[in-house]
Amino acid sequence: MNRRGFLSAANEQQKLTMRPADLRLRAARPSSLPCKICGAPSALYGVTDFSRPCDIGAPMPPVSGLPVYYRRCETCGFLFTDAFDDWDIGEFKTHIYNDDYVKYDPDYLEARPSGNASWVAQFWSEHKSGMRVLDYGGGNDVLCSSLRASGFKEAVTYDPMVAEHALQPSGKFDLVTCFETMEHLPDPIAGIGKMVEFVADPGAVLYTTLVQPDDLPKTGMSWWYIGPRNGHVSIFTRQALAAAWGKYGFKTASFSELLHIAFRTLPENWRMKVQ
Ligand SMILES: [Zn+2]
Repeated sequence: MNRRGFLSAANEQQKLTMRPADLRLRAARPSSLPCKICGAPSALYGVTDFSRPCDIGAPMPPVSGLPVYYRRCETCGFLFTDAFDDWDIGEFKTHIYNDDYVKYDPDYLEARPSGNASWVAQFWSEHKSGMRVLDYGGGNDVLCSSLRASGFKEAVTYDPMVAEHALQPSGKFDLVTCFETMEHLPDPIAGIGKMVEFVADPGAVLYTTLVQPDDLPKTGMSWWYIGPRNGHVSIFTRQALAAAWGKYGFKTASFSELLHIAFRTLPENWRMKVQ
């Protein structure tokens, strides 16, 4: 076992002896809470273990014994936990976005940003020479460096969780991209508000987050995308997405269960027909 492996095993072992209060996890109250998006009553929906990652077929870490409860809004269907709502950025970095994070999200470093970059470059190839792009929550600069190399006028990474990219950019951007980030936002309305500040009008936000499947009542908490270890604290429905963006006067439309676009006005020359 190498040094890092040894340390991470020690880390996991240490968690086994921790209680929710040691980690400042907020205890679940049995009564309903207002939905973080629409304010409607949200009763407790289910519980999973803090160490549970999204199920991508990787080996499961030891069960921590720290319960994380999720609630579901009776109106918009938004599924969320408030267990981490007392954490600051430092606590997220220590317990979730730490050296072990990549084990549970192996595509985070290279495969996902590269794949997304080639898709964006292809889709906007006609307009790229005049476009300013901001990648929000991108983690590293892989996506943006690829966009710059393929001829975009400007492509900037902004991620408050990553020191090298935590400097807030200035001005407005024709396109803000936000890949696999929305589900990580403990306060999605505030997070969307932050993105909206950077979007030019006309302009758009291209984003991914997997919406709940129709058969969620059948799979419940065993659905693979509910993973506190991955930082998945906010799980949307299409209705929840529409309500969240709607707070800022944005509409949202979906290309698939995963890929969506939000905008006030779409640039006419993109010739996008969105319903
Ligand atoms: Zn709601």
